[in-house]
Amino acid sequence: MGSEQDCIFCQIASGELDTEFVLETDTVVAFNDIAPAAPTHVLVVPKRHLGSVAELGPGEQELLAELIDAANAVASERGLDASGYRVLTNHGADAGQTVQHVHFHVLGGNALGPLG
Ligand code: AMP
Ligand code: ZN
Repeated sequence: MGSEQDCIFCQIASGELDTEFVLETDTVVAFNDIAPAAPTHVLVVPKRHLGSVAELGPGEQELLAELIDAANAVASERGLDASGYRVLTNHGADAGQTVQHVHFHVLGGNALGPLG
């Protein structure tokens, strides 16, 4: 299980910070965003450290599928199947990535509006 010193999401995923998980599998955890932008705002992250979506390339397809499965499961659990939800991830400065451990935002619970 890769982990990077000083990576907040590695610390969360390893249980070091005693965060309540919305969902946990062998490879993935999901937890509430600390600054929610919607009634449901959950972050889905791999337990293993990867910097961003750009590292989810060939060789990581199984993990990518597990992350998307987890995002869909969180949305279902929150009752968002019918009303809709958004799954997004940021890479790099222009996208506003602030935590350098890949994470998928799962947003829903009201009308989210257009991107941008
Ligand atoms: P991004 O801007 O895409 O890198 O998203 C980082 C997200 O992580 C932001 O929505 C933050 O509110 C959230 N965040 C940062 N630190 C924590 C934390 N300790 N627990 C939960 N969410 C966090
Ligand atoms: Zn990390």
